[in-house]
Amino acid sequence: MTVGIVGAGQLGRMLALAGYPLGLDFLFLDRSEDTPGGQVAPILCGEFTDRRLLRRLAQRCSVITFDWENVSVEALRGLDSGTRIHPPVGALAASQDRAAEKRLFERLRIPTTRWMKVDSRPQLERAVREIGLPAVLKTRRMGYDGKGQAVIRTHEDVDRAWSELGGVPLICEEWVPFDCEVSIIGARSRSGEVAVYPLNGNVHAQGILRLTRAPFGTPRLQRAAAGYLTRVLEHFRYVGVLTIEFFVRSGKLLANEMAPRVHNSGHWTIEGAVTSQFENHLRAILDLPLGSTAPRGHCAMINLIGTMPARERVLARPGVHLHDYGKEPRPGRKLGHCTVVEVTPRARDRRARELLADLAPEIRIP
Ligand code: AMP
Repeated sequence: MTVGIVGAGQLGRMLALAGYPLGLDFLFLDRSEDTPGGQVAPILCGEFTDRRLLRRLAQRCSVITFDWENVSVEALRGLDSGTRIHPPVGALAASQDRAAEKRLFERLRIPTTRWMKVDSRPQLERAVREIGLPAVLKTRRMGYDGKGQAVIRTHEDVDRAWSELGGVPLICEEWVPFDCEVSIIGARSRSGEVAVYPLNGNVHAQGILRLTRAPFGTPRLQRAAAGYLTRVLEHFRYVGVLTIEFFVRSGKLLANEMAPRVHNSGHWTIEGAVTSQFENHLRAILDLPLGSTAPRGHCAMINLIGTMPARERVLARPGVHLHDYGKEPRPGRKLGHCTVVEVTPRARDRRARELLADLAPEIRIP
């Protein structure tokens, strides 16, 4: 059985690596052969919008999935009605547009930040008046890892934010002085089985995820996040893995955004959970029973950004798992990650501190 994956980044690569033990084959579609996914499975090379290539992918695969959310919804909708595409294209479309995403959260009564649509300079002035400062201006589409965002702290910043981002559809939202950031990841299978992972506690710098610790937070926070995630899963009759990111303020969750896919904050599940998010995504889209999401210990995952440390240096530390995505180093680029699994949260934090001091000294555990 062959799974078609649109996008051959590190998420696609880790999906394939999780699927091989189950006897699955993979075929990617991406712009270049030398991609993390293309290094471990065959690849069709071309544009994501190339209907002929997408049709070929559909013909050769039992099911089609994607490893990033900026895949063309129109191109996927143009495929034969018999093509199985999971997660649902409706969820993909909502995740591509920050305004649609906010409306979805509001419709499902999932608390989110105060926000307004901004399509012109006068609308930005109005949004700043109504929302107050500080605020964040964000492009509605194609924003990721903090790209397409400008913080407005004072009225003098309005001009700069508008000249940086104006001209494309935007939203303006309140700046949240959060206590911490968390994400929740879960899977729903074709037959409606749902499995949710423990909460992830995330630390970002310049909009990029740097550190995840899991399990994280109180049982009450876990229940609330899992409840919101399940609402979105049921709303779309979702199939596959879904992630929602939240700000936590005074013990309350505020949804920031969702991703209709496996997520960087779930990489710890490879070694740290009974079944990884990657395997559960495959199980869900192939209508296989979902695996246990129980943690095997207390985990920390550190992203390796910009340059890869020498393998020897990382592996000399006992119990550290290294993942190298096979990418060319470039400033700000996610090149790999490493994970530790410990018996107690204290031991986990101690290991994470040591690793951070070595690999990412600018990041602190809160
Ligand atoms: P996003 O691409 O929307 O997930 O933003 C990336 C990161 O920027 C988030 O994980 C936060 O650390 C920060 N951020 C984005 N929006 C806000 C906000 N409204 N208030 C505070 N921090 C934010």
